[in-house]
Amino acid sequence: MSSELNQLHAEVRACVKCGLHATRTQAVPGVGPCPADIMIVGEAPGFNEDRQGEPFVGAAGKLLDTLLARIGLGRSDVYITNVLKCRPPQNRDPMPNEVESCSPYLARQLSMIKPKVVLILGRHALERLLPGQGSISRIHGSMVRRGDVAYVPLFHPAAALHNGALVADLEHDFDRVKAYLDKLLAPPPPPEPVPVPKQEAEQLRLL
Ligand code: URA
Repeated sequence: MSSELNQLHAEVRACVKCGLHATRTQAVPGVGPCPADIMIVGEAPGFNEDRQGEPFVGAAGKLLDTLLARIGLGRSDVYITNVLKCRPPQNRDPMPNEVESCSPYLARQLSMIKPKVVLILGRHALERLLPGQGSISRIHGSMVRRGDVAYVPLFHPAAALHNGALVADLEHDFDRVKAYLDKLLAPPPPPEPVPVPKQEAEQLRLL
């Protein structure tokens, strides 16, 4: 991990801006390589994340691991974080002032990680990263380009734990993610050989 990202994580751990520090066990800044081609953004730490200090280590995280494995990826391939870095009490929805306080951290993570692809998990991350794009039920699985970055909104794995019908949607969407990644992360083709002008070729042949 870069020292700049380490410094950011330390700032997050010391943060008392929005008040959630009063009820959290610890902040959960994020985890993974820096830079990374793929970044994943969820909503906020839950019970297990708050205890362990790592994002997506509970039941939703297990489902996320299965979906990543389905497309040949593991934790070490992706940087994972959340919109909120501290657990809201009883896992309630993030409040606007909390999202505002935490957003500069997410913006700095994006500029340090430099992802080519960002997987957006759930409606809160969607609202933050692609405001005005409509509901997650409408655009899940599609790719939205913003500058050099491709964003893919997906149902939150926790939603699929409550509504089993969404698991098939998530599996289908991850297969689409694989196709996007194959295109976006493919190595550039080798340069075409420059054709030697005919006269020059003839001179070379005579040497
Ligand atoms: N849900 C999230 O959005 N993030 C986590 O880290 C865990 C559960």
